[in-house]
Amino acid sequence: MSENIDWANLSFGYMKTDYNVRCYYRNGAWGEIELSSEESINMHMAATCLHYGQEAFEGLKAFRCKDGKIRIFRMEANAERLQSTCRGILMPELPTEKFCEMIKKVVKMNERFIPPYESGASLYIRPLLIGTGAQVGVRPANEYLFVVFVTPVGPYFKGGFSANPYVVIREFDRSAPLGTGVYKVGGNYAASLLANKKAHDLGYSCEFYLDAKEKKYIDEAGAANFFGIKNNTYITPESTSILPSITNRSLMQLAEDMGMKVERRQIPIEELETMEEAGACGTAAVISPIARIDDLEMNKSYVISKDGKPGPISKMLYDKLRGIQYGDEPDTHNWVTVLD
Ligand SMILES: *Cc1c(COP(=O)(O)O)cnc(C)c1O
Repeated sequence: MSENIDWANLSFGYMKTDYNVRCYYRNGAWGEIELSSEESINMHMAATCLHYGQEAFEGLKAFRCKDGKIRIFRMEANAERLQSTCRGILMPELPTEKFCEMIKKVVKMNERFIPPYESGASLYIRPLLIGTGAQVGVRPANEYLFVVFVTPVGPYFKGGFSANPYVVIREFDRSAPLGTGVYKVGGNYAASLLANKKAHDLGYSCEFYLDAKEKKYIDEAGAANFFGIKNNTYITPESTSILPSITNRSLMQLAEDMGMKVERRQIPIEELETMEEAGACGTAAVISPIARIDDLEMNKSYVISKDGKPGPISKMLYDKLRGIQYGDEPDTHNWVTVLD
């Protein structure tokens, strides 16, 4: 175990660990897996990732469990999503087996940085694929680097599971209907920084996006998927500009397991009036309950949680998913890899 880390007060930040793993793509093929203790990457100044945003990333977690084992959540799904991103921005696909082998290796090699079960903290895993080949014209690179590093992160909710206020941002779009919103690429994040800053400047936790074309339907809650709950139904947007969240996919399955109906469809913003609960979901928080969504230009405020507390179904889904991740609940869908 790691001696001097204050597990209880970790934030969502970078901490140096012992190792990262790397794999280079050259001459049309992926090379051997390399173990590195170097934090920096040496690359050509004309690398396509630096100029033309040929860059993709992933995010997943490993957990130290009550039974002493280490569990990694849905890494095959992350491998497949990365492959989809690769097809979207013309990068070579990394095979699932290689991706999983590298994830397991980097977690194992940094075992002393996996927070103890009781802390509620976890090990965040960040895979990164970048075009490293030099190009000046706009073309895909012919060389790539895939790196995976890890960093311990604290529980998302320090003061307990609580609800937050969001603000609809109509003047900026995160992604276009036929753009790169469905891919996990850095460019979408660059496009969101201004909207996010505006939301923070206005005193909100996060920005809330509508579809870019009609500005009528709910898209994403910042860099997280949206879900709402009413009439025993879990409702989440169908859209060509949102990132397919693995957490959302898991919650849909759990909602169905709990006997709820699941709907994936366009959600007009006004429908928030009838939502009994709502939340943002993603790897970082699992569920971040939404207290209120203000649509300032329309002079509307959709209050979801009057007392600022998460709703009972959100809480149930949250507990169930966390339970599976920490091995406290049976893994009936084969989502978890136990490290040996
Ligand atoms: C990563 C991401 C999510 C969440 O996906 P998970 O697989 O649940 O972590 C949601 N929206 C955006 C824009 C993302 O980049």
